[in-house]
Amino acid sequence: MSEPTAEPADAATRRAARPVVCYTVDRLPPFDAAFYAGVRAGPSPIGTIDIPPRDARAFRVPAGHLFRIVCVDGPQVGDLNLWNADDLGERFFSGKTRQLHATHVTTGDRLWSSLPGLRPMATVTHDSLAWYGWDEDGAGVHDVIGTRCDPYTNHLLTGVDYDRCCHSNLVRALATATGLSPDEAEAHVHDVLNVFMCTGFERDTHRYFMKASPVRPGDCLELFAEIDLLAALSACPGGDCGAGHSDDAAACHPLRVEILRPSAKALAGWRPASRNGYAGRHGVSMKGGRQ
Ligand SMILES: [Zn+2]
Repeated sequence: MSEPTAEPADAATRRAARPVVCYTVDRLPPFDAAFYAGVRAGPSPIGTIDIPPRDARAFRVPAGHLFRIVCVDGPQVGDLNLWNADDLGERFFSGKTRQLHATHVTTGDRLWSSLPGLRPMATVTHDSLAWYGWDEDGAGVHDVIGTRCDPYTNHLLTGVDYDRCCHSNLVRALATATGLSPDEAEAHVHDVLNVFMCTGFERDTHRYFMKASPVRPGDCLELFAEIDLLAALSACPGGDCGAGHSDDAAACHPLRVEILRPSAKALAGWRPASRNGYAGRHGVSMKGGRQ
């Protein structure tokens, strides 16, 4: 809590400054609705991955394929990590995705990669919960605000060691998929897309809150891989995240991932996203001086 302080005489003037959207987001590559409609027209299923409750699985999605995260049994939140399949150093950048789109993503939004790649890793092509919008509490679905439940924060707040947080589930899944040790894999686990999670900020305190996810069996979030992806998805121990997480108290359900291959005709002329074009000199000359 901040100490009460006297307002300056021009407080109202200072507060009246006009909000400006931080980036010229109208210059982002447009969502080509006709292209993605073609991609979604009758793709061939090529694989299914079942994510057990309180666990995670990693899976590969070739560039130009769709992957669909499906609620199959009961309300369940999923924590998603994405990496460049050929370079774990390029991974999903939750914070920049938030700045370029919004606190929550839906159809047409991109999941952007970390610097210096900064390119679309995936595009949301269908969101069966798009109807939810923003509720009376200011909450929405599929957030890029929260990080992931993790055993360190849980230990900090409760003194209890719990090994099935999404962070740990993602560590195990990545280690299994890559052959890295758990310690090595942990360094690559990053802030997630909170699939199906319903969250917002309290109006008075601006603290992050969650509420029971509106997801039901049959709902899905579908994405198009803009580059070759290695992904990992955790079925959060919080279940629908309507009460708690980081323990075994909540009803927890599996999730399913379906991978689908669009027709060759739909992908004609399409190319994977290119890495960012910045020359990367950061103002440093080749001789080590400032430019
Ligand atoms: Zn979690």
